[in-house]
This record gives sequence, C-alpha cells and structure tokens, in this order.
Amino acid sequence: NSLNFSGGPGALPETVLDQVREAIVSVPDVGLSILGISHRSDWFASVVAELETNIRVLLGLDKGYRVLFLQGGATQQFSMVPMNLLRGSPVAAQYLHTGYWSGKALPEARREGPVQVAWSGEASGFSHLPTDAELALDADAPYLHYISNETVEGLQFHRVVGRDDVPRICDMSSDFLSRPGEFDRFSLIYAHAQKNIGPAGVTVVVLRDELLQKMRGDVPTFLDYRAQADANSVLNTPPVFAIYVILLVTRWLRDEAGGLPGIAAKNAKKAEVLYKALDASRGFYRGRAAAADRSLMNVVFTLPGSDVEQRFLDEAADAGFSGLNGHRSVGGIRASIYNGLELSAAEMFANFMDDFARRNR
Ligand code: PLP
Repeated sequence: NSLNFSGGPGALPETVLDQVREAIVSVPDVGLSILGISHRSDWFASVVAELETNIRVLLGLDKGYRVLFLQGGATQQFSMVPMNLLRGSPVAAQYLHTGYWSGKALPEARREGPVQVAWSGEASGFSHLPTDAELALDADAPYLHYISNETVEGLQFHRVVGRDDVPRICDMSSDFLSRPGEFDRFSLIYAHAQKNIGPAGVTVVVLRDELLQKMRGDVPTFLDYRAQADANSVLNTPPVFAIYVILLVTRWLRDEAGGLPGIAAKNAKKAEVLYKALDASRGFYRGRAAAADRSLMNVVFTLPGSDVEQRFLDEAADAGFSGLNGHRSVGGIRASIYNGLELSAAEMFANFMDDFARRNR
C-alpha cells in the first residue's frame, strides 16, 4: 500500500484507511455500516453539507459557488460541460489540446457545438505546455476548457491560463486539492475522486452559481447541472461510500495535512526528490515533460530501450514498488505521487532509481 505509485487510483493516507476500515463495520455515532446507510438519511445529508463546506473552504471559495457530487467519472464531464454550455451556440468554445486526456474531451464537445482548439501540443508530441503568448484566445467564446495536469504525459500548468472575461472550465482530476491556487478565477472545476481524494465512483464539480443560471436545460435531467444542484447531489442514489471517504480525506487535509499549503509543500518535496534522481542520471532516465512544465503529481520518463525498462519494472516490483507502468498510450515509466503517498516512499524510490542507473548505465 505505502509504495503504490499508481497513476489511476492513488493511495489514500493510512489514517484515513483506518477510519474507512472502521466505517465498513460501523460508522461512529450511527452504529451502521457505511455500506448500509440510506442516502435519504439525515446523517447523509449532513455528510454532503459538511463535505461541500470543507471543499469550498479548502479552495478558498465563497457561497457563490456550489459543490456537486456526480457520477460518470471525469469522462462524463467531457460531455456534460458542452451539453449544458455549448449546445446551440453559434460561437465556438475554446479548448487546449495538451495531451491524451484533453484530446478525449474534444470529440465529445464537437458533438454538441462548434469547437476551436486554441493551442495544440500534438505536433511536438505533447512534451510541453503553451506560453501565454502562444494562446489564440477569443473574448466571445462561451468558455475555455483545459486540463490543469495531464496525467499521462506528466505536464502541469503552474499558472492559471485564459481570459478573466471568458468562463474558465478546468479538469483538475489529477491535481485537485494538491496545492493552493486562485480557484475563484474558474467558473467550473471538475475532478474525479480517485487520484487525490478518495475512491472511484464520484466526481466533484465546483461551479459558480452564476454559471448555473446561464444553462439551457434542454438536456436529460441526470446530465443537467441545475437539476443536480437543486437535488443537493441526491437526484438518484449516489455513491454514499465514496462520498463519505472524500469527507474523511477533506478532514485529514484540514486537520492533519496543514490544508492546501501543507499538502503542497509535501507534494513539492516528493516531486523534487524524484526529478533530482532523474536529472542526476545524466540522460539515463529521460523525462517526458519540458522542465518548466513538469508535473508535481506524475513523474513520467523513459529508459534506454524496452529491455532495460522491463528490468527496471521487474526490479522495482521485487523491491515492493507498484503501479509504475506508464499509461498504455505512451509506455515508459510513470511514478504518480498523489496526496496520499508519503515522502519516505518517494525517497525510497529515488534511491532505487539512483542505484538502478548506477548499475545499468
Ligand atoms: N481527465 C484526467 C485528467 C484523467 O487523468 C482521467 C483519467 O485518469 C480522466 C479525465 C478520465 O477519468 P474517468 O476515468 O474518471 O472518466
């Protein structure tokens, strides 16, 4: 568990896992298993209310924002965003194409209306992110969509991009609640839970009330943000277990991890030790991302040849490290260092990298 560097579902903090274990048998003060508590109970309504507040407070947002807990993963948001905000628009929404996942959002948006790619990194193999000067931004676009952290390529924006007068919509699935930021500059943020904040099955959507008012409402009820907001995220049976685990993680972030500044300092340190091992190898490990755009969540690199790469993975597995295979679309190695992973695990892996490079260079 403690040496799990998986890029799909991330590791959860040990103290949260202890509480989850207890809750599966019996939730304190309720006396029932979390798997058997009704989503219509007062207790669950209080879970949703506390979680909404915790997320708003962690992000530094006021009551002008709603927090929804939806299903269908981040993939469903690729459709739900344009269904609610692009359908029927004569003006194109703008999208940044910075890697594998932002590429997946494009065809879904094109089903709903006109789309304009304001920048694409495809020709350069998604090895870097755009500068502000390279972005062709349209003041009339209904919104700008981008991904703050490209999980597959290990590219992360270290600034907010786009115009303040065009609604910014951001997929933060793989860096949500991992660092502080200017979240009030976004109109809609979405993130599935399974990287930094909980188990798969729930997707957090944070959106401006103002944006809700502008939505058209000619979409199926389940995919209508307004209907979901009106129902306080209990339009149908929600994933009660997953939502409860996120609540525990937000309490952990608030009470034990030092809030977003605290977790960001820990995440930066983990990234620093891994990139240091990569750079110290003098070209043995090749980082995928341009240095300025390196992700603090996914450290992605290749080794000289597939034989060496396989030996690296085998020896890493023998040493207890798991989840290091790169995404199936790009191969190579990906060490994901989400919130739940301890600094000591990153240090152990960096030592392993140093040692392997020395023996195989
Ligand atoms: N967006 C990003 C940034 C991702 O990393 C992923 C998957 O890892 C997705 C979207 C797709 O998420 P889901 O499997 O929850 O639909």
